[in-house]
Amino acid sequence: RVAREPPKIHRLEESVVNRIAAGEVIQRPVSAVKELVENSLDASSTSINIVVKDGGLKLIQVSDDGHGIRYEDLPILCERHTTSKLSKYEDLQSIKSMGFRGEALASMTYVGHVTVTTITKGQLHGYRVSYRDGVMEHEPKACAAVKGTQIMIENLFYNMIARRKTLQNSADDYTKIVDLLSRFAIHHINVGFSCRKHGAARADVHSVATSSRLDAIRSVYGVSVARNLIKIEASDNDPSSSVFQMDGFISNANYVAKKITMVLFINDRLVDCAALKRAIEIVYAATLPKASKPFIYMSILLPPEHVDVNVHPTKREVSLLNQEVIIEKLQSVVESKLRNSNESRTFQEQT
Ligand code: ADP
Ligand code: MG
Repeated sequence: RVAREPPKIHRLEESVVNRIAAGEVIQRPVSAVKELVENSLDASSTSINIVVKDGGLKLIQVSDDGHGIRYEDLPILCERHTTSKLSKYEDLQSIKSMGFRGEALASMTYVGHVTVTTITKGQLHGYRVSYRDGVMEHEPKACAAVKGTQIMIENLFYNMIARRKTLQNSADDYTKIVDLLSRFAIHHINVGFSCRKHGAARADVHSVATSSRLDAIRSVYGVSVARNLIKIEASDNDPSSSVFQMDGFISNANYVAKKITMVLFINDRLVDCAALKRAIEIVYAATLPKASKPFIYMSILLPPEHVDVNVHPTKREVSLLNQEVIIEKLQSVVESKLRNSNESRTFQEQT
């Protein structure tokens, strides 16, 4: 090859930088739904309703009954790095909200058309305003509104042709959205969720606020799952090795499925932990080989300083301090539960 002049380095236009970054935060329609629902949860909503059109590419609409957004905040709502949840870095240590980086709404305005309708307590009317590329398109317009906030994302990835094409060919984005909301619905049982396709009469996820986790699981995953679950609990207070609390439901010997369902929340965040999932599969394969693809719901509470929440928004995989110790402990709790329930079952069958 012939040596040539080095290419000139220039600064990218801000709009290009923002669109590239936004495409990383919002990788698919389901990532937008997750961010919007987490915002609704952060706003103390008790009812969250989702409508999806064309797998989320045409429309994602999330309506909640939370605290709403102040009129004065609307101008900066969709700017990058604007948030009501974090002020200084140290707050991250103890943060209870799902969001904190002030990036989600901004990102959506760089890759889609965002319209916000919101009303705060004591107001007679709400406001509606649309955003593009981080900024308001016009002054907020007064409008009728009941309670809370509705956020509409239209034409997601309209300006990312390749992304839109690959997503159009994949039919499974709506399935991913339903799966995500099912998980949220069985953890946040004091919140009612619904998710439907635009124009559909029936909701594909429907839960009402309840005090019973099992009722929530029944309404979301069905009776056949709910009737085959065992309650499970564990805790460890040994500060030298681990401090944690776990409670959940695991399937028994009668639950037979093609693949494992593992719904895991750590400190109320929906996460994946491949090592824990694998460890539990191993226990089932050894204890209940015929029911070796279990349904697992686990909620684990750890001291906040043992979990790093400042990971990339799209990364659900976590690693924990003292992970091995915790996994071993959980494995043994699951194993003894399964053995007990299996023995009492065999006993019942014999008598
Ligand atoms: P973050 O959640 O990290 O703060 P977002 O871009 O997701 O960033 O949201 C920016 C801000 O907009 C939030 O901090 C919150 O104050 C407000 N907000 C977003 N969605 C809602 C909602 N559904 N109800 C009330 N406030 C909201
Ligand atoms: Mg957020």
